[in-house]
Amino acid sequence: MVRTLAKISLVLLIIVSLPMGFYLVREFSTLSKNEEMVERVFSTQLESILYSINQYSENVVQQWSQSLDHPVDPEGEIMQDLVDNLFQKNTAIRAVRFSNLDPPEEQAVYFSDSVFTMDNWPGQSQLDVLRGYLESNYQRMNVELLNDKLLLYFLPKNRNGEQLCQLVVDPQAFIQQNLSPMIQQVAHDIFYISIADSLSGQVLFTTDDDSGLSQTMEHADMWYLPDHQLGIRLKSKTLVELATERTQRDNYMLMGVGLLVVLGFIFVIINIRKEMKLAEIKSEFVANVSHEIRTPLALISMYSETLLLKRVKTEAKQMEYLSTIHEESARLTGIVNRILNFSRIERNRTKYHFDRIDLKQALPEIVADCNAHLSAAKVACCFDAHVEDAWIQADWESLKTMVGNLLDNAMKYSDKAEKQINVRILKKPNEVWVEVEDNGIGISAKNQKYIFDQFYRVTEGDLAHRAKGSGLGLNLVKRIMKAHGGAVSVRSKLGEGSTFSLKFPLKK
Ligand code: ADP
Repeated sequence: MVRTLAKISLVLLIIVSLPMGFYLVREFSTLSKNEEMVERVFSTQLESILYSINQYSENVVQQWSQSLDHPVDPEGEIMQDLVDNLFQKNTAIRAVRFSNLDPPEEQAVYFSDSVFTMDNWPGQSQLDVLRGYLESNYQRMNVELLNDKLLLYFLPKNRNGEQLCQLVVDPQAFIQQNLSPMIQQVAHDIFYISIADSLSGQVLFTTDDDSGLSQTMEHADMWYLPDHQLGIRLKSKTLVELATERTQRDNYMLMGVGLLVVLGFIFVIINIRKEMKLAEIKSEFVANVSHEIRTPLALISMYSETLLLKRVKTEAKQMEYLSTIHEESARLTGIVNRILNFSRIERNRTKYHFDRIDLKQALPEIVADCNAHLSAAKVACCFDAHVEDAWIQADWESLKTMVGNLLDNAMKYSDKAEKQINVRILKKPNEVWVEVEDNGIGISAKNQKYIFDQFYRVTEGDLAHRAKGSGLGLNLVKRIMKAHGGAVSVRSKLGEGSTFSLKFPLKK
């Protein structure tokens, strides 16, 4: 059996566990790759959000330059109107100055509220770059950060690069008034977006108060705010946290699947073991029954043949042979009945006829039926019932089978010189117990757990091994007691004896 089991385990291992194990290992190894990919995709998305904010800031300053790029006199009234309009709509713009480039001289300067000196002038090389762009029909806005002021300048198209337009912008107001609404909209409730001074690290603007979130973010330089950085991260969790959480969840799931496979494997092996054990026990049962049947059959055949050949001379001897034939055929009937009973009960074909039975009267009758057997086995059987009556609801034939089986076992499994069996009735609050006690070989605690299983026979010990049996008797008792709404139990000590109790519900 062990070899077959080992073979089956190996086959199962190969067809189930190996592919599963391979799959699990593969899954584990691809997990980190997947996580890396997710992280890459995610950070690319965040980068593109930052790009769109920069793009938006470019649109804002492009609109400023377009609104100032008109073919009108910089000092004239129309220009004044245009600039006033610009100041009104964009409070971040503090001053606008128009200048001639050749010779370099200021033409007109406008201030939104307070007046301040504007003496900065872009270098020649920067102007050349802007002229180059303009020749390619592209108007570019240059930007510088000077003393906390943002200086934007461009060459208006309608003056063919001869004029310079400079805007002085308050960076904080630019962020709050021009960029903030768009940033808030992008951040929604999902992202945390900030603008920080990239030199000092000081956060100048946030979509959320929680500045603790600022450490783990995607960053991008701002196109129109030199030395400033945009930062973004998910509000709830960082990418790393999300990736770790996902990896952990996947790991747990994979471990769970692995555990299930192992448990399933163990379950299958246990079941196969059980089935194989049952098959083994069944084949043992066939051998035992055949052995049990062979002895009476041989005796019957031998004695009947002797009688038929008239070889027995004396009448006394003839009587002895005939009674042996009678006894052995009764034994055969007993064996066959037990097997039939068992198979009927197992297939739930048994019909019980429940009657009110007083055990105090019924038991002595059943014991008396076994008297011949008891005296043949030289067993002293004592019946005592210190109760007035003990009414139960039982099937008479089944009651006889059960008590008969217990007495039979008590006789069979005893090797004492003075064999003693006590049958007694005990009344408990809601039950009536029939106890059959013997001073036989007893049953070990380990075997007590199994003796009520079908086909189970104790194989340890000389007598238990030698005694004939089928392993059906006690299982039959257990099933019949269940049908009576009761139970059977055993108390036993190896070498000292056993007491079997049939526990019937009390019929009041
Ligand atoms: P069997 O036909 O083998 O007697 P049973 O189901 O009646 O089958 O009993 C199962 C096993 O329990 C027996 O093989 C025997 O080892 C053990 N057993 C039953 N009754 C007794 C007893 N009174 N004393 C010792 N062992 C017993």
